[in-house]
Amino acid sequence: MLVICASAKTHLTNFSGDQHAWPLYLTIGNIRKDIRHTRKNCAWVLVGLIPCPPKGAKNIDESWHSAVGTVLSQMWHLGITGRGLKCDFVDGFQRQCYPLLAAWVGDYPEQVMIAEVSYASCCVCEIPKGVPMGHSAFRPHDTSRDQHIYSELLEANHIDALHTVGVHPICNQFWQYPLCNVYWLWQPDELHQLLLGLVKDLLHWLLKYLKARNVKDQFGNRCTLVPRYPGLQHFSKPFD
Ligand SMILES: [Zn+2]
Repeated sequence: MLVICASAKTHLTNFSGDQHAWPLYLTIGNIRKDIRHTRKNCAWVLVGLIPCPPKGAKNIDESWHSAVGTVLSQMWHLGITGRGLKCDFVDGFQRQCYPLLAAWVGDYPEQVMIAEVSYASCCVCEIPKGVPMGHSAFRPHDTSRDQHIYSELLEANHIDALHTVGVHPICNQFWQYPLCNVYWLWQPDELHQLLLGLVKDLLHWLLKYLKARNVKDQFGNRCTLVPRYPGLQHFSKPFD
């Protein structure tokens, strides 16, 4: 039984104490996507509120992992190496299920927190910070292969070696989760990675290209000439 978690630190108030909430939600992959995404079906369950440390606090990562570990400890005990749990299915049968942490929905700061990698580095591979291209040339992180290497480096206090591969010198509790690769839990974030990341960069590059060839106005005018069609965005002004 695939378990999907979601977390997001949320800013609630500005002028009455700058209140934050850090909810942790849980659902299962057996539920169809269209049902899960309909709010009235309550397919996502709030399982905990993670403490929000004050600004400038130390050891935020450890406290986050400790809180999430406490909430998910039950699931870990029921996992593939544990006793499992009996679930009723719609076909009338009862089956023995073993929860398996398969995905985590969250934005980049949450992904960095879960994977325990340095900010601005890749959660998936060991590419050094600041290198924009060539991820495929670097070794991907893999929990089952790397947890022993990272644990040994941690025990031997080889902090620099961990920093070189972008991993925080902290024992990641997700390493212990059976069949869970913590570096592949992340899911594409539509708002930040696609719309504000890939699409914005692509448009920026395209406009620069069109401007350099003096065809930007022609491109803008052609955008306004596209006939209206249901579901298709129509631009009444030239694209800028
Ligand atoms: Zn990468």
